[in-house]
Amino acid sequence: MSFVVQGKTNWKFLLIIFILAAIMGGTVLVYQYWWLSQEKVKIGREQFLPKYNLLIIVSDSLRADALSCYGGEANTPNICGLAKQGVLFENAYSNGQSTLPSSLSIFTGNYPNMYIDPGMALDFFKLYENKIITFDNIDEFNKVSSLFRKINDKELLLATVLERNGYDTKYKLDFSSLDPFGSRHFLNCCNQLQGLEKLKEYKDLIEKEINFIEDNTDIKNIGLGYEETYSVLDYLLNIKEKKFFTMMWISDPHEPYSPPEKFKKNINIEFSKLSRKSEFYELRYSQLGLNLPNFTGYDIYYLKQLYLKEVESVDERVGYILKALEHNGLKNNTFIVFTADHGEGFGEHGIFYHQDGLYNEIIHVPLIITGPNIIKGRRIKEIVSHIDLMPTLKDLMGVDCLYNPSGKSYKSLLVSGKDSVEQRFQIIEGYLSSAFIENNYKLIINKDNTFELYNLFEDPGELNNVSKENQAIVSKMKQKMSQLRIEKLIKMIKNLPNIQDKGKYISGLLRWIKE
Ligand SMILES: [Zn+2]
Repeated sequence: MSFVVQGKTNWKFLLIIFILAAIMGGTVLVYQYWWLSQEKVKIGREQFLPKYNLLIIVSDSLRADALSCYGGEANTPNICGLAKQGVLFENAYSNGQSTLPSSLSIFTGNYPNMYIDPGMALDFFKLYENKIITFDNIDEFNKVSSLFRKINDKELLLATVLERNGYDTKYKLDFSSLDPFGSRHFLNCCNQLQGLEKLKEYKDLIEKEINFIEDNTDIKNIGLGYEETYSVLDYLLNIKEKKFFTMMWISDPHEPYSPPEKFKKNINIEFSKLSRKSEFYELRYSQLGLNLPNFTGYDIYYLKQLYLKEVESVDERVGYILKALEHNGLKNNTFIVFTADHGEGFGEHGIFYHQDGLYNEIIHVPLIITGPNIIKGRRIKEIVSHIDLMPTLKDLMGVDCLYNPSGKSYKSLLVSGKDSVEQRFQIIEGYLSSAFIENNYKLIINKDNTFELYNLFEDPGELNNVSKENQAIVSKMKQKMSQLRIEKLIKMIKNLPNIQDKGKYISGLLRWIKE
């Protein structure tokens, strides 16, 4: 993870200072933590008048620039129609590059690596520092698969508080047997975030899913994932008096790219020009460390077309949900959020899928919010990231919750004519790499400690690394970033649920410094 690899010497020095400060301030921290958590629980139990519903729709692996309202090729009238009824963020980023870290930031308002299990962190870092996961060493990686700790009840996520105030917070994440891939979704309830998916299991599931699609004509025609939509539709059409907070996790356009036949048939392709079998499922395996297949440009073109058609099928599903809300008279009283957990690469920077790389195809996500009092048809240029979402939603819902979030509310952008909120650095955390975005600039710090700087305004495709000619900007960003990492680390330890975990984490850091 990012905070252990870069600039080891400086980093260690800063950590020593931090640890000394932490030891001295330990008693105060413990007391403060105890006091704050008691206070927050009390606030969470206070009654407030439930006024609004909240629906969050997350599409898995949907890069922003696929959608027509972000200049993309997919025809997405429902999602983009939603943008006309509310606010669209042109520059929204996920804080992680894959599902689990990203979801953590969506639900908590904090950076993903603030939830690393203190007992697992050191082993994980050691393992990841020098290795790439392959099927040969997959078992070794499984040993450290529970990278993230569970969210403690006292950390008060929005759902917890709403539930205590009579909301129905059943998440529509109980994937049916029709979705053999469903178990990759660990979020059975948002205050019970589970550990990292097990890679071995993941591999088995891929095979199962491929066979399932290939053997099942109905699924080929209808499309995998529609079952999730039907269960949410059923829920929304039948919910009566009770206010709700529900989340619809659409597991597409995540690979394998298997759009329903009615979308797929519109792809204009000459199959004889493809270098391999049509569906490219084998590409999936390359991601986990096997040799990257030698795709031709035409292969990649087809892969991308399949993806875009799957995006159109996601749009169809969003359309059904919006109609159900309208039909049941819920639309005017419901905040609707549409976003994606991360994007998807198609070789723009030599990267496919989304387990690696922090270029915009992987981390630039759509973000659209509509609801009571929200300005209609506004496009915001301000740079925001997923950690800001929960602080914003709690403000919109009028609830006090979240323990010590790092994100900031941008409610004022949604309900008033304000153009910007407090300017902030946005941090995106990959596996041992990280990216920092401020104004026009994006600094990527790679795991080998090399830097890339892009001027996103002049070079949105991130093709021209300008770090050499902009040394002053790089060093200013690096300096700011070190400071933010220390602040983040302090907050991370402060947020750990108990004194034993705080101790475990600090002793882990000390061990790491010694080595
Ligand atoms: Zn995902």
